[in-house]
Amino acid sequence: MSSYWAKRRRILKGVERDKQEIAAANDALLAVIPDFDQVNPPVNEHQHGMASTSHGQTVTPEAQDITVDEVYEPSEIFSSSTEDSEEEEDCLRTQLAGWAIDNMIPHVALGKLLTILSKDHPTLPKDPRTLLKTVTCVKTTELSGGVYHHSGIESGILSQFLVSPELQKLTSVSMQVNVDGLPLFKSSNAQFWPVLGLIEQYVCNVQQNKLPFVIGLYYGKKKPSSLHFLNPSPFVEEAQRLEAEGVLFERRALPFKISTFICDAPARALVRNVKGHSGYYGCDKCVQKGVHYENRMTFPQTDSAPRLDHAVRDELSDDSHQCGETPLALLSVGLVTQFPLDYMHLVCLGVTRKLLHLWLKGRRLTRFSPSMVKELSRVLLTFTPHVPCEFNRKQRSMEDVERWKATEFRQFLLYTGPVSLKGLVPTIKHVLETCS
Ligand SMILES: [Zn+2]
Repeated sequence: MSSYWAKRRRILKGVERDKQEIAAANDALLAVIPDFDQVNPPVNEHQHGMASTSHGQTVTPEAQDITVDEVYEPSEIFSSSTEDSEEEEDCLRTQLAGWAIDNMIPHVALGKLLTILSKDHPTLPKDPRTLLKTVTCVKTTELSGGVYHHSGIESGILSQFLVSPELQKLTSVSMQVNVDGLPLFKSSNAQFWPVLGLIEQYVCNVQQNKLPFVIGLYYGKKKPSSLHFLNPSPFVEEAQRLEAEGVLFERRALPFKISTFICDAPARALVRNVKGHSGYYGCDKCVQKGVHYENRMTFPQTDSAPRLDHAVRDELSDDSHQCGETPLALLSVGLVTQFPLDYMHLVCLGVTRKLLHLWLKGRRLTRFSPSMVKELSRVLLTFTPHVPCEFNRKQRSMEDVERWKATEFRQFLLYTGPVSLKGLVPTIKHVLETCS
């Protein structure tokens, strides 16, 4: 930017000198200059540049090394509102960049738009990357067969403080962490493993604005072979330091802790370095040995001894559960209690979907008759016009149940299901009476 302003000062100086020479040589020409703007609206810079030199004026040595594009914009030279127009252009630039990011406009489309706009706004950059201030150099480390970039926990938290000033009143910071795999392409196995953080107090205070932030990003051609994208550095190291020293904000050290790791079953097993949920000792919460039933692992006991935080941390638990050390043991995080089971996969996409599947396509004993399915769909569709905007989706019929999203199963379980099933499925009392 400094070179731009230096260049600008040099140009204006040169122009001022030209003006004086013109005034001395030809008073008549000078008289025309105030009307120059109206006669020649500032549409084409090239023309104006040529016009001003074609009058036979000598261009000063300072101005000679400057391209025609950059000089002799009459509206800029003679207008008193130069500063205003610059501010407007800056504002346009910021607004365009914000719009492109919010609406996920592809660079190709944004580039074409900038080309169109450049005719009227020559100071706009032609390259979308310049407009969006795309970072061109990112520090990465080779880890676990891929590359890892660490954005930082503390910097992420502080950036959240800027976005939501109400968070600045916090006296301590409690953070949720999410780790999950993210396939990038259909045609290859390349994937991201983002590590995300969310300030927990957000969830309680300002629901509308809860924004997770990126702590780190792993990229690999396949699932990370080990946990080394979390350890030894930089994630665990930084979390350890923050646990000991707190988050430094305005000369205050805010106590810091990780409250929970929110992950799906495969990611939970990976970050804790334990057996997956399909293993005999795969249950996160208890020590029972699973039983194979219809090609899947089940854990039928309901009174088995619980798995304990310290047992997992010290690897005292059944060796069949723990695959090896986990870097997360270095943190003050309960490796059982602070890894909750995820509601979305287990309840919405698990039990609720299974129930509907049994009613629609299960064995004869549990299956609904076609007329019952039709009646269920009819009742469900009567809710559709009355679903408030707080719900993610409008109610769909049983015909679309294969395409239902997790939120639709949740809606069915908690709201529409109990009402629509009334009278269709027998009550427990009725079943018990029939059995006896
Ligand atoms: Zn269990």
